[in-house]
Amino acid sequence: MTSSASQPSTAALAGNPLMDLSGLAPFDAIRPEHITPAITALMERAQKAVDKLEADQAADAPATWQSVVETLDEGTEGLSRAWSVVGHLNSVADTPELRAAYGENLPRVTEFWAGLGQNQALYERYKKLAASKAFQQQTPARKKLIENELRGFRLGGAELPEADKPRFAEIQEQQATQSKAFSDHVLDATNTYALIVRDEAELAGLPDDVKEAAREAARKAPAKEGEAPDDTPAWKFTLHFPSYFPVLQYADNRALRQTMYKAHVTRASELGPEYGQGQAEWDNTAIMLDLLRLRREEARLLGYANYGQVSLVPKMADTPEQVQTFLAELAERAHPYAERDLRELREFAAAKLGLAELEPWDIAYASEKLRQARYAFSENEVKQYFPEPKVLTGLFKVIETLFSVRIRPDSAPAWHPDVRFFRVESAAGTLLAQFYLDLYAREGKRGGAWMDDARTRYRRPGGQLQTPVAYLICNFTPPNGGKPSLFTHDEVITLFHECGHGLHHMLTQMEDLGVSGINGVEWDAVELPSQFMENFCWEWAVLEQMTAHAETGEPLPRALYDKMVAAKNFQGGLMTLRQVVLAATDMHLHTDYDPDGAQSVLALSRAVNDRMHVLPQPEVSRWINTFSHIFAGGYSAGYYSYKWAEVLSADAYAAFEDAATEDTLRPEVGERFLREILQMGGSRPAIESFRAFRGRDPSIEALLRHSGMSETAES
Ligand code: ZN
Repeated sequence: MTSSASQPSTAALAGNPLMDLSGLAPFDAIRPEHITPAITALMERAQKAVDKLEADQAADAPATWQSVVETLDEGTEGLSRAWSVVGHLNSVADTPELRAAYGENLPRVTEFWAGLGQNQALYERYKKLAASKAFQQQTPARKKLIENELRGFRLGGAELPEADKPRFAEIQEQQATQSKAFSDHVLDATNTYALIVRDEAELAGLPDDVKEAAREAARKAPAKEGEAPDDTPAWKFTLHFPSYFPVLQYADNRALRQTMYKAHVTRASELGPEYGQGQAEWDNTAIMLDLLRLRREEARLLGYANYGQVSLVPKMADTPEQVQTFLAELAERAHPYAERDLRELREFAAAKLGLAELEPWDIAYASEKLRQARYAFSENEVKQYFPEPKVLTGLFKVIETLFSVRIRPDSAPAWHPDVRFFRVESAAGTLLAQFYLDLYAREGKRGGAWMDDARTRYRRPGGQLQTPVAYLICNFTPPNGGKPSLFTHDEVITLFHECGHGLHHMLTQMEDLGVSGINGVEWDAVELPSQFMENFCWEWAVLEQMTAHAETGEPLPRALYDKMVAAKNFQGGLMTLRQVVLAATDMHLHTDYDPDGAQSVLALSRAVNDRMHVLPQPEVSRWINTFSHIFAGGYSAGYYSYKWAEVLSADAYAAFEDAATEDTLRPEVGERFLREILQMGGSRPAIESFRAFRGRDPSIEALLRHSGMSETAES
């Protein structure tokens, strides 16, 4: 392939820190001007490996593990490592120069990787390798890796007759275009709507910070055309979540809630213009049908009955029917609790709020009032018990106890002085892995929290072992005035969550890149270790050890803990039904729904809702027109995976619970979790790992119990 960037001279590459990342990345030496020369050279190196495989295929040379997998892994690893460092820096230490260099290289790097998946010669090489006699002697992990590769090629259309390939490519393009249009319409409708309030009395009940933000938004808004600018105070509300939701949750003004609610649920629909949030051409109704038709056609070309089946091929769930059964069972079990939630809410709203009839725009409002009446506690009060050093010590103690490892401070060049570096050792002192911990929000750092692999565990062809390295990134409040940072309980949960991903990546014992750590793990199973780790943040025995009041040093009081748990499970029945309806609608649309039939997408969504939920879908609601997860994101026929992962992680955690003790830090169970799940990475189907750990198939009981929805739970 030819590259658009200029050829780097050897001199330009001398001392370029991105050219050799076999050790830890020298973050202190990497400059934006290193990026383009290094990526150009590393892409050439990677392309040489591809050329080699293509030449082998043309010459009909034998396909061996070395000539196919090792050649490609060794040839592309430099590019993949360097690009991961660049992408990482772009996320955590953004500067205009870095962003420019990243943006300049992104299209060609993306194109290179996408090209591998479409390369017919590579596909033939993998097939030949899989068919070879020597391959039968390979480890199960390596066989799984090759199966995954072949599956990826097949789903990408590699087995299609030549005549069908252009149409297949066209379907992909049209889907991308339509998905983009779908999310653009949602965004346009959300951005366009504005509600200006001129009388502060109408805003009763809203928290001060919400009002202040609305006031600020109104100051920035241009005066209406033809209207003289005036100095009357005004408040502007939009359909963006931080503006819209507090109105639904807190505004005493019922008419205001109703107005905002109706505008919100009619976005990107035929009703949009009527409710002041957009234009007729932003209606997503036709796009949803188009996308469903395109996906059905794609599935049929690939030899499947529907898109639901295609979506599940690389996932842990087997069939759409299995998913629907799973969802129906959850709905049935949650149903009585949802009815109780609703009854309590109605009684409370009638008795305390004077709302005899609960309308859709009253639900969030009444729920918030009920929650406050029952479980009110101050987030700020809880925060005082979670100073950073105590939390980190507690987290490390959990990991060390469960998995018989030691976590020690270590040193490495980093991208910011706040970043810390640790090593994970076996009980005997062998280095297993290392990780960077970057906890605080700051300018130039992308929001949110995530784990990413800096380096994957890998046995090089020469026999040398590369140990894994992880990035653990959060956006918590930095320490202030010489005092340690105080974390909210949500932040503590986030930290445990990302550490769960980190452990999956770092404690693997696999040595082939494609199945090492998180690589090759099914998409609907990848959240198992992360959500599993969250459970410890709700365990009294753990919290007692992990908390110390910033002033008094006292651990979290039991009474406050009990309130936190009760608040977590508040309206668990209603929330479960909501998620189940979304997931079941998604799966129906992608399996048994006919986009050319008489039933509209809206009617289908209504039918599913009214069959499974205790609340009917409001007449005005067009929420399906903004279901971006399935129409614009990667969740088509995959929305169920949220609940699925919760079930897996709760059930895995239940293995640590023992009626005889409150302590779940049981090393003998931890050892099994380590051996059967964390160490195995993607080397075998997730269901096999789960069975090996649990001794049976996953069950929904533990999740129901943890959410306060089981026979024994007090009501
Ligand atoms: Zn996660």
